[in-house]
Amino acid sequence: MEGYIPLSVPNIKGNEWDYVKHALETEWVSTAGAYITEFEKKISDYTGMEDAVACQSGTAGLHLALKVLGITENDEVIVPSLTFIAAVNPVKYVGAEPVFIDCDDYLTLDSVKLTKYCEEQCSYVNGILRNKLSGKQIKAIIVVHVFGNIADMSEIMDIAAKYQLKVIEDATEALGSYYTSGKYKGKHAGTIGDIGVYSFNGNKIITTGGGGMIVSNNQKYLDRCRYLSTQAKDDSLYFVHEEIGYNYRMTNLQAALGLAQLERLEEFIETKKENYHLYIQLGIKLLPFRENIRPNYWFYSYCTNNRDDLLKKLEQQRIQTRPIWKLIHTLTPYRVNEAHNISKATDYYDRVLNIPCSSNLTKDQVKLVANAILNTDN
Ligand SMILES: *Cc1c(COP(=O)(O)O)cnc(C)c1O
Repeated sequence: MEGYIPLSVPNIKGNEWDYVKHALETEWVSTAGAYITEFEKKISDYTGMEDAVACQSGTAGLHLALKVLGITENDEVIVPSLTFIAAVNPVKYVGAEPVFIDCDDYLTLDSVKLTKYCEEQCSYVNGILRNKLSGKQIKAIIVVHVFGNIADMSEIMDIAAKYQLKVIEDATEALGSYYTSGKYKGKHAGTIGDIGVYSFNGNKIITTGGGGMIVSNNQKYLDRCRYLSTQAKDDSLYFVHEEIGYNYRMTNLQAALGLAQLERLEEFIETKKENYHLYIQLGIKLLPFRENIRPNYWFYSYCTNNRDDLLKKLEQQRIQTRPIWKLIHTLTPYRVNEAHNISKATDYYDRVLNIPCSSNLTKDQVKLVANAILNTDN
């Protein structure tokens, strides 16, 4: 599409062809092969972890995380309302119910409202946090590091410790983001809670076409994720299965692609950072990333009072933009669920437009988009 500036597209200009070709030539194309273990090792090294488990998608990774942490029917899980639906659907896959909490000014789970919710709307007796409204036990929090930001993990981890809640980090959008100061200095998004999940879907900062990775400091969790992701096979000769597993393992072809992409991740982040600052320099008001982090600058959020009108007019100028996801608690499958005091998410939903941010984006294209916005949004 000549002349069209898309929102966020893959950047495949490194060793992708070579590695995928090699995987094809050796005929290791499926869920076993050296690229998979190599990709797991490289992601662990990059994020400062001991091990990682490659899977089919971020969604599959989140599903496994909930399974492994023992979340089942009758449990409740605290989730943000402002997120992509794949952060919440896995709660339903395991038969549990979500409780929706608002976002803060970085679009991530509001730790103040989270604290208030636990203190005022729940009881805490004998190590069990119970939702007073439903009478159900709340067992976990899913934190989403929206657009490459990192949620307020030091507060959230304190709350989780106080009420004995498990923490799943949906770091699908935040590979490469890490704290630069504070309690978690040097820690990557995804490596602070009990289990973290990355995604390599087509629009993420690096892609394998589709794919995901699970990280944890707890080796038992990872071993179980690996086991459940490969059909819970207890004997590979006689095909003995003691449990119900899933076909969630990443393929060697995907991993070959991922390895080549990972080699370029820091370069992608550098480009995205430069373009983010260029937009701001050109007068485009973008939401900030949290101060004490090195973000991966995955998505840029422009605030406007004419969201839909601007979107349409930019589309006419062949520039793709997109509003934030419709808030999950307002979607049909989740309207019955509890949503606690949501206001900021509604406000940001009304105003934020994501603007072109691909790592392929040239400086001239940034200038073109910036001019189009400045001339159109009035
Ligand atoms: C992309 C994404 C997911 C799901 O990842 P897939 O690999 O597409 O399954 C989950 N949560 C959020 C916030 C995402 O952006």
